[in-house]
Amino acid sequence: MTVVTRFPPSPSGHLHLGGARTALFNWLYARHCGGELVLRIEDTDRARSTQASVDAILDALQWLGLDWQRGPYRQSERFDRYAEIIRRLVDDGHAYHCFCDAARIEALRESQKAAGQNPAYDRHCRDLGRQPSPGEAAVVRFKSPLAGRVAFDDAVRGPVTVDAAQLDDLVIARSDRAPTYNLCVVVDDIDMGVTHIIRGDDHTNNTPRQIPIFHALGAALPVFAHVPMILGADGRRLSKRHADVSVLEYRAQGILPEALLNYLARLGWAHGDREIFSADEMVELFDLAAINKSAAHFDPAKLLWTNQQHVRAAPRPRLAELLGAHLEQRGLNPAAGPPLADTVAAFAERAQTLQEMADKSAWLYADFDHYDPAAAKKHLRPAAAPALQALREAFAAVADDDWSAAAINRAIESVLEAQKLTLGRIAQPLRVAISGAAATPPIDATVQLTGRARTLSRIERALKWIAARTAAD
Ligand code: GLU
Repeated sequence: MTVVTRFPPSPSGHLHLGGARTALFNWLYARHCGGELVLRIEDTDRARSTQASVDAILDALQWLGLDWQRGPYRQSERFDRYAEIIRRLVDDGHAYHCFCDAARIEALRESQKAAGQNPAYDRHCRDLGRQPSPGEAAVVRFKSPLAGRVAFDDAVRGPVTVDAAQLDDLVIARSDRAPTYNLCVVVDDIDMGVTHIIRGDDHTNNTPRQIPIFHALGAALPVFAHVPMILGADGRRLSKRHADVSVLEYRAQGILPEALLNYLARLGWAHGDREIFSADEMVELFDLAAINKSAAHFDPAKLLWTNQQHVRAAPRPRLAELLGAHLEQRGLNPAAGPPLADTVAAFAERAQTLQEMADKSAWLYADFDHYDPAAAKKHLRPAAAPALQALREAFAAVADDDWSAAAINRAIESVLEAQKLTLGRIAQPLRVAISGAAATPPIDATVQLTGRARTLSRIERALKWIAARTAAD
């Protein structure tokens, strides 16, 4: 049997973390089993579905590398098929037309509430056996089982049993003939040969409603796996409040797609206590049985940590390209500084995201506006001026084509000896002078990346700044 999973987003917004994780689990399981992933756009709700959302969801899936073998199908293009199935269910006695108007349903609900009962349709029209006459309003209801139980073995939660008495005769076609969610999903899952339904446990209540429809249509049941929700640190369901922004927002922040996949997988799945996986490793190891039974908590700090591990492991040319794009987004010209590959080599261990890498290395690509105030106050003191002046001269004596870490170190050594100073005394003033801040890669790499001309002009700028400060004091 070929395993077929599906990802069926409703296009009423962006792809958020929960949706991306559902897509990932379906993708992983299909790949793990050598099966197929179906992408289905659930756009029957015309008022809430937009093409912009479809585009954003596809863009996010592509960025994450979550590809599909079939689709995207669109439910809005399958209305004829749903109508055909609804007719068949009525003809076979599994569904019926219901003529109860809104006023009757409302009155029924009120009286049930008053009697302390759960509101449910009383099946008034179930045995009428009548078709609507032309122009007569009617919905179509599915005949849920009257007695017994609906049971399924959830691949995550274990056996789930629901009393038939709890199931309503649910509406499968509205009075404007529009098919409803539970009907469309079952028809699609059958037609598309879906063998495994992996979805958020907010759908657990739908499953016992859908199972009798599978039975009525004579279809075998797929395996159901309901994945616990993702919660915020406050224990509430993840939402915008917890920075549950569009997945593409993480791209803008300089998170690598493989890092986000790794993090999302670990939000609900475990393989021992291992944290870092490539996509291929996850494909190999993924298993429905290892999905956690309890809800996971979103931890932004852990996402950053996970990203850092992937930044360290990522091919440098790829990081260089991404860094270039992030610098450009800040209006900087990547050609106006050291080769991006050199910057990446110096900063890959020092940044959790590409955005942070761009922030920390921006001074290499354009002059900075001002010194970090605390760093300047502490390190650009009059006492540092003679050493900075001597460093400027020593660097000026290095030929442009000899601007190597070794030559830079020799120049620094000569100043240390001549001035009887330790590296500790001059490294920080030099750092602040050329980068504007007190934290950069090792001093020789910092000077080398900055380049000879820029190093000289920035030391001059710092000397002027110190002189102005002395005059003002
Ligand atoms: N379209 C539904 C959603 O976005 C998913 C339905 C399903 O997985 O059965 O929540």
